[in-house]
Amino acid sequence: MVLDLCRPCLEARRARGERLMQVSGGVDRKITCVDCGRRRYGAVYENGLTYRPAPPRRGERSG
Ligand SMILES: [Zn+2]
Repeated sequence: MVLDLCRPCLEARRARGERLMQVSGGVDRKITCVDCGRRRYGAVYENGLTYRPAPPRRGERSG
């Protein structure tokens, strides 16, 4: 699940133990925070529910 979060709400969630990974493509841009509902600077984060394992690295083929 993707969440737009401002920095204070991000830190509040992290303090509660949520794992949030920043989605590439935007640091400190204007978002509408899902927690406080305000338009603030923040970033897009993804929580662990939709976590996908990293793709295999290139150049490490066996054989
Ligand atoms: Zn917020």
